[in-house]
Amino acid sequence: MPSKADTTITIILATSNRDKVKELRPLLENISPLFKVTTLKELGVDTEIEETEQTLEGNALLKARAIFSLLSEQFPSMIALADDTGLEVDALQGAPGVYSARYAPTTDGKAPTYEENVRHLLLCLKGITNRNARFRTVIALKGSIHKGDKQFDFEHTAEGVVAGRITLDQQGTSGFGYDPVFLVDSTTKTYAEMSREEKNSISHRALALKKAIADLKNILQQE
Ligand code: IMP
Repeated sequence: MPSKADTTITIILATSNRDKVKELRPLLENISPLFKVTTLKELGVDTEIEETEQTLEGNALLKARAIFSLLSEQFPSMIALADDTGLEVDALQGAPGVYSARYAPTTDGKAPTYEENVRHLLLCLKGITNRNARFRTVIALKGSIHKGDKQFDFEHTAEGVVAGRITLDQQGTSGFGYDPVFLVDSTTKTYAEMSREEKNSISHRALALKKAIADLKNILQQE
């Protein structure tokens, strides 16, 4: 495909989640032979970026910008890619939302486990009949690409949303996080009852990624 760059473009993923990396790497490398996908961990960068924003978009951008400023001098053509996901429950006015990873209260100051978050969610919804919810992922890209003596800078976000309902009890054992209690609309299964391939083909993250990739192709083709 025509591209703005004439040298390798390093794509640095903010996530250290192996499942997410496995999903993202082939999809990105398929866009262009110039793309080389790596992670902070693979680069030996041990940095914790605190998610201090009130929105998924804010946090995704915060992470992409932080990685970009940390590493853009080392990689003349690079794209930092970060994602943030939240589960929004209507009866809880959109909670846990941006706080999905830290929903259940804990006494030791540590982050709650997936199981604690799921149990807390079911408790908060006890007796509530409106179980409508959605998963929302925002992917942020911040990049700088060189071609000859020209430099091309961009910052971009893409969103993926999947609607569903919170079940009364946990169903299924696959996946992670709130998967066992998220019944996907237009299916009869929770995410945890789907194979990894099935979930990855329809998930909120996959949708956001597809959009981000389409947008990235457009950005790279602009002359
Ligand atoms: P993150 O922004 O991807 O780290 O997601 C924040 C939190 O949302 C995670 O700690 C999980 O509890 C939850 N979460 C994110 N993605 C998923 C998913 O695909 N299924 C279930 N829970 C998820």
